[in-house]
Order: sequence, then C-alpha cells, then structure tokens
Amino acid sequence: MRKTRSRSTMVLIIALLAIVGLCVFIVKIFLNAGQWIQHPYNGHLAGSGGLSSAGEIFDRNGNTLAYSQDGERLYNSDYTTRLSTLHVVGDDSLNISSAIQSSYRSQLIGFNYLWGLGLPSSLKAGSNITLTIDSSACNAAYNALSGHNGAVVVYNYKTGEVLCSVSTPTYDPLDPPEITEDNEKEYDGVYVDKVLAGLYAPGSTFKIITAAAALENIPDIENETFTCNGSTNIGGNEITCMHIHGELTMKEGLAQSCNVVFSELAARLGKDKMTAMAEKLGFNSIVTVNSTETAKQVYNVSKADENGLGWSGIGQYTVEANPMQMAIMCGAIANGGTAVLPNEIKSGVMEINGGTKDMIDSDLAAKLDEYMRYDVTSYYGDSLFPSLTVCAKTGTAEVGENKEPHAWMVGYSQDEDAPLAFAVIVENGGYGFSTAGPVAVAAMEACASVLRSE
Ligand SMILES: [Zn+2]
Repeated sequence: MRKTRSRSTMVLIIALLAIVGLCVFIVKIFLNAGQWIQHPYNGHLAGSGGLSSAGEIFDRNGNTLAYSQDGERLYNSDYTTRLSTLHVVGDDSLNISSAIQSSYRSQLIGFNYLWGLGLPSSLKAGSNITLTIDSSACNAAYNALSGHNGAVVVYNYKTGEVLCSVSTPTYDPLDPPEITEDNEKEYDGVYVDKVLAGLYAPGSTFKIITAAAALENIPDIENETFTCNGSTNIGGNEITCMHIHGELTMKEGLAQSCNVVFSELAARLGKDKMTAMAEKLGFNSIVTVNSTETAKQVYNVSKADENGLGWSGIGQYTVEANPMQMAIMCGAIANGGTAVLPNEIKSGVMEINGGTKDMIDSDLAAKLDEYMRYDVTSYYGDSLFPSLTVCAKTGTAEVGENKEPHAWMVGYSQDEDAPLAFAVIVENGGYGFSTAGPVAVAAMEACASVLRSE
C-alpha cells in the first residue's frame, strides 16, 4: 500500500514536471520564436539568410531598397543608394544587428506563430516594410561625408520620422567585403550603425547643456560678463581656449564657443546641477528607435575633481554623446522642451515605436532656441543654409593620441514646412564648423526639399 502511494506520488511529480516544462517551452516559443527562426542554422531558411522570398523594403517615396527575385535577395539598382542605406536596411547577414533586415527578419520572411514558415506566400501578411527614410537624402549626406567615417541623422521633430540616417564606413550589400587583417582598419566599425550605437566625446556641442544648467540655476546669468584671456585655471590646472575672447556674455560665449566661459560655469554649478541638466537632456539613458536601443550617453562626474568638472562642461573629460540622442535633444529644444521620439518605419510592422519625452520646460527651451539661433546668425552666417532658418552648435572634440579631433554639428530648423533636427559627426574630421558644417547643410537641405515636395 505504501509502495503504491509513493509510486503514485512519483507519477504525479513527473506529470507535474512535464506540464511545467511544456508551459515553459510554450512561453519561450512565444517570446523567442521570432528570433530563433532567423538563426542562420535554421534549415528551413534556404538562401540569402532566409530572405530569398522575403518582403520588400521601400523608402518613404516608394523606392525599392531591398526585394527578392528568383530566390535571391537584391537591393536598389543604384550603387550609392545601396551604400548610403546599408545600416538602416541591412544585408543578407545578421551582422548589422540594428538594421531592419536583422531586427524585423521574421516579419519580412512571413513567420507566423501558428503556421511557422509554412504559409503560402500569398497568405503571408504584412511582409513588406516602408521606411521613413528618403534614399536621395541619404545619398546627399553620404556624398557630403566624402569618404570620412562618421554618422549623419536628420529627423522630423514634429512627427518623429527619420528622413536621413547614414553611417560610414559602409559597403555594398550585393558584394559584402571579407574582412581580414589586411583591410580591418578600412572597415573598422562597419557593422555598427553609428547613428544609433555610436558614442563620441561631444566637445563644444555639450555647451548647450552647460548653458541650460546655468540658465536654470544662476539668477541673472544673462547679465554677467566673463573674461577670456585664452585660458582659465580651474582646480589648479589650466583649461585652454582656442582664442583670446576678452569680455563676453554667456550668449556670446556660446556663439564663439569659448571654453573659459563654459568650464568656469560647470565648476561653479557643481556636479549635482550639471548632472541633473545632462540627464534631463538625455544623458545616462537610452532611447528605443524601431526596436533597437541607442547607446547610453555618458555624463558621470562622480569621481571628477574640480578641473575634471570644468572639462566636462565643454564636453570633454569622460563625457560621451550619441548622434541620435543629440538630434533628439535638439528636436526637444525646437519643440518647446518635449521630444517626439524618432522611428525609421512608416508602415508594415505591428508596433511602431514613438511617443514623446518631456525634457525641459518651455521657457528654457525658448531661451536655448534664442541662443542657438544667435550662434548661426552671429557666427556661422545665416547664408550657410540657403533655404532654412537654422539654430545650431558645432563641436570640435579632442580625441588624443595625436589624432585629428572629431567634428560635430547639431541643431534644427525653425521652418514650419521643414521641422528637422540633425546631428552630424565626422570622425577625425578636424575643426567642427568647416568639416561637419557642409555635411549638415547637404543633409538638411535635401530633407527639406523632400518634405516640401510631399
Ligand atoms: Zn575663450
């Protein structure tokens, strides 16, 4: 009797374990099947990494960027378009993990939870994807980079639609390179979409954040004057400026990008106020674009001495910025303090990310708008952007090792028919304005003409 009882207990336990196991498996299928199906070792996916009969990818104007024909995955017929859109579209492999053809592969190949891949293609729903990007604008940005490595992003700060997103180095998805020891330098970072995953010292573009912290925390800061003699001593060490600016206000300091003004302000504001404003404007956090998380921007002065805090105020020290998030910050300033979060997919997927993020209050946004507009009118020259009214800030970020600095330009246009925010980074490009400026102009003007023709 006792034997029978212990046997039935055993049977019960085994049965329960089996049920629990089955439940775990079912849950796992629902959570992960979309990813499992994409694995290259999946025997059901014949040819082109399973893309041989996958849906098409279009740009915002219906240009085909990727399609399948006779069992092969093919891409736009124009060579420059294939290069300029590679990091958004992807190639046959899963090497560029954030690309649409990687992160939405199960959707493109028509995977379905009930039928797996077994559904006839005529019944596979929603396998075409239309993007928000415009291939001609991507080409304009790619050409303007003229062989430099870097990243360019332009997005509509009212709708969140990304019109231009380019990352270099790049390659032709019809002829992916074999990366060996001999050419690895040339292709350094080629599988990374630097718009979403890139992190760089922001240099003087960070002065926007320091200015915001000063405007919010120091009463009457706008009537103060600073004196730049070409350097300042903070915490016992010198912080140098590119010029001897003499007497100037904070607004003039931003337009002339004076290091003395903004390193002194950071030291005076202190770690807590600087960190609070940096975090309001997107540092130490990530944003999800499509289904990919951006890199986390870094502002961490917890271990900084006073001199380090000073350097952080001009975007050096250990500060790191991401191009997409810098564009979002500019979009928020343009939008009265609230960012409309970007996406690159117009239609074709179940869930399109988006939403808004309140960053700063509207009074502060209006003040920064005035300052960034003054940068362009008083310093860069308003003729730089022929058809747009632009607010911007450049940056030249020192990278050490005797390398040329990274060149940045971030900003937005005030034009109602072209509400565009942008970020440009040219790696080792030298002086911000002269290198990143023309790229920003090319990308912004191309995107504006796209919006104006719709
Ligand atoms: Zn100065």
